[in-house]
Amino acid sequence: MIKICSACNSTWAGGRICEDCGAELHDPYERDAGEKMPKNIWGYIRLQYGARRGMLVRVLAFLMVPVVFGLIAREAVLLNGAWVAVGLFTAAVAAFATWLFIYWAAGKAVRVWVLRKGQLQKRKMARALLKRAMPGSRS
Ligand SMILES: [Zn+2]
Repeated sequence: MIKICSACNSTWAGGRICEDCGAELHDPYERDAGEKMPKNIWGYIRLQYGARRGMLVRVLAFLMVPVVFGLIAREAVLLNGAWVAVGLFTAAVAAFATWLFIYWAAGKAVRVWVLRKGQLQKRKMARALLKRAMPGSRS
């Protein structure tokens, strides 16, 4: 659960009082949240969640480095002589490239999640309507 300070827009993982300024915290999903919350708060929440998701993907990217390196290096050590060194070097480059790519993609994805969420939901809704219109597509 996320709680938001009505005075300074700080976000907290719970509690009743903002630890930054001492104002009351509000649950953005309570029924009268629309009146208590500043109008721009929804964009802010979306930004927070988008950034958090991007962070998780970047952690994933970091965890992929030893996996990619391990998979390629395991094959490389079976090669003959000097090719082992080439194989290990390739494994290191591939691991780094994987990290770089996911890290870059996470930045792109956050921008899409945060800025184009409305469009994505529209597309999802269109797909759902299409599915309902086609008989026998339910599995
Ligand atoms: Zn506050």
